[in-house]
Amino acid sequence: MRIRVGHLYPDYLNIYADRGNIAVLARRAALRGHELDVSAIGIGEPISAGAYDLLYVGGGQDREQALIAPDLAAKAEALHRAQADGVAMLAVCGGYQLLGRGYRGRDGSFLPGAGLFAHETVAGEARMIGDVLLECELEPGDRRLLAGFENHAGRTLLDRGAVPLGRDVHGFGNDGESGFEGCRLGSAIGTYLHGPLLPRNPWLADWLLARALAHASGGEPPVLAELADALEAEAFRVSAERARKRGGRR
Ligand code: GLN
Repeated sequence: MRIRVGHLYPDYLNIYADRGNIAVLARRAALRGHELDVSAIGIGEPISAGAYDLLYVGGGQDREQALIAPDLAAKAEALHRAQADGVAMLAVCGGYQLLGRGYRGRDGSFLPGAGLFAHETVAGEARMIGDVLLECELEPGDRRLLAGFENHAGRTLLDRGAVPLGRDVHGFGNDGESGFEGCRLGSAIGTYLHGPLLPRNPWLADWLLARALAHASGGEPPVLAELADALEAEAFRVSAERARKRGGRR
């Protein structure tokens, strides 16, 4: 199948090789006989209804976020419609922050967000930097670990009832207090985890691909063929070990 991917603001939000997440999705789709068709969505370019099976947005410095925030906020309706329609989404760090209601910078300025995720972010004094390990359960009873790297000033405060992506095992996560990381809304995932995230967590790449394929086919998420993933497993092991040794305040 052809999986249509919309990559939001690739020229502005792409730190820590976040673009690598797209490369992993493309490779893992191809190994199962599917093709990823990636198109950039820039400032002033619409998210046309039904045009995408997966939407991706990376992280960025406050300056880059400020350049795209008004445009992203103007795409709120299209993003809500896409999420409700089952489009898979992955939003990393700065992109994750701006899929909430907004980001208040240390200088007091407020960057409006798309309000898809029920949260708001406030920049704190100290940056939260380091390796992270978290436990998530995207499917009931199917507990998995995610390993990655965080570097953010923002503290993301989830509304009551909002579903976090996972529980911090090691790391600061959303705010260094709640013990939670990220946010999830159906097939939409938001996280602070850079790295890039997907090369060392192939199960999440497959989870997103299965949901994108379900959207493309109008059917149920398929069970994808297992891949060897030896290198990925080693990358995860090293990352998780670093988190255990250094991650956050826990
Ligand atoms: N600029 C935001 C912050 O500092 C996001 C940083 C990022 O994407 N790594 O919190």
